[in-house]
Amino acid sequence: MHLELSDDHKMIQKTAREFAEKEVKPKAHEIDETSEFPRDTVKKAAELGFLGVYVPEQYGGAGFDHVAYSIVIEEISRVCASTGVILSVCNTLFCDPILRFGTEEQKKKYVAPHARGEKIGCYCLTEPQAGSDAGNQKSTAEKKGDGYLLNGTKAWVTNGAVADTAIVYAVTDPKKGSKGISCFIVESSFPGWKVTREEKKMGINATATAEISLQDCRVPKENLLGEENKGFSIALRTLDDGRVGIAAQATGIAQGALDESLRYSQERVAFGQPIANFQAIRFMLADMATEIEASRLLLRRAAWLQDQVGFSTIEARYTLEASLAKLFASEMAARACHKAVQIHGGYGYSRDYAVERMYRDQRITELYEGTSEIQRLVIARQLLGN
Ligand SMILES: Cc1cc2nc3c(=O)[nH]c(=O)nc-3n(C[C@H](O)[C@H](O)[C@H](O)COP(=O)(O)OP(=O)(O)OC[C@H]3O[C@@H](n4cnc5c(N)ncnc54)[C@H](O)[C@@H]3O)c2cc1C
Repeated sequence: MHLELSDDHKMIQKTAREFAEKEVKPKAHEIDETSEFPRDTVKKAAELGFLGVYVPEQYGGAGFDHVAYSIVIEEISRVCASTGVILSVCNTLFCDPILRFGTEEQKKKYVAPHARGEKIGCYCLTEPQAGSDAGNQKSTAEKKGDGYLLNGTKAWVTNGAVADTAIVYAVTDPKKGSKGISCFIVESSFPGWKVTREEKKMGINATATAEISLQDCRVPKENLLGEENKGFSIALRTLDDGRVGIAAQATGIAQGALDESLRYSQERVAFGQPIANFQAIRFMLADMATEIEASRLLLRRAAWLQDQVGFSTIEARYTLEASLAKLFASEMAARACHKAVQIHGGYGYSRDYAVERMYRDQRITELYEGTSEIQRLVIARQLLGN
């Protein structure tokens, strides 16, 4: 592993940063205020390959690697956390499980149009009673004729209100607990799929987070992903990858908060001088920069390990590193955004300043794809071997 980015990765970083500054940043405030899903921006991101950064070219992706993906999500999240996670879900939570567990036909039919950004994907694991306890699924998938009938409620689905296709988990054998869960590819046009609620949230307002009701939703048998009753291991495997994306999102938000703070502290004058001259402010900037760098190193290592494993194996082998990166990055981003608001003084509390949005947006990174408590459980289990 090289600590310096390769020339290719530097080029991707430059492209992502320019795109973020030119196309994403100017809309970040507006979509936060209106909660409007940024369709145009997502379309433009797709033209750069950002909806399938590490998806092989034969399936419509850009054919880069996971390090490139982590760079893209970081750069986009640096200016807009909503757009960052929309892309992260499309890449990792949707395309990834199909690439890893899907048939050739499923990859061609579903990965390709989503990686090209012609369609939007989402991921339906959580239910009202099954968040951290994700194995406690109540949605059912009953075998009927040539397919399955799905019934249940899925909660907190990012991209859910606008998605064309979803990865959905449901119980096929209730006697087996989490070993009786299967995974399906469900099109939102299938009869029985209904968006029943759009969530009003603290942050990442433009992500079309929805509750989905499945009522006798008919899914053809060829849309079973992987083997029947093996769905929960697909869910856990997918979360290992997803957590690296959230670590990238959190690192990006924190970097954005530092960028804003560096600029503001040199402009804002108090007691006849820029506040950046005060040691108290300098120490906050220094602490932010130090922690962001530490977070980025954890992130890069996890992404590099993902690239060593590729798509070939079911065993992640970077469960520990993904959780270390996600836990540290998300809690670090909380500290960084807190400091950024402090540096901005009263203006940091105003919606006119980006750090106010970053402070709210950051909070979710400590919650989704496994809360900080769940990351600690995963890390301790990896350390202790039980
Ligand atoms: C904005 C948003 C977007 C989301 N997007 C998606 C998505 O796209 N797809 C999807 O499937 N899900 C999504 N989620 C769901 C998210 O992953 C869950 O909310 C999260 O995993 C926590 O589950 P919960 O909300 O049920 O909290 P709970 O599981 O009820 O947890 C409540 C508290 O108890 C703690 N706790 C629970 N169990 C333990 C334990 N064993 N030990 C110690 N502490 C514990 C938790 O850490 C937390 O502090 C999203 C959530 C939000 C808010």
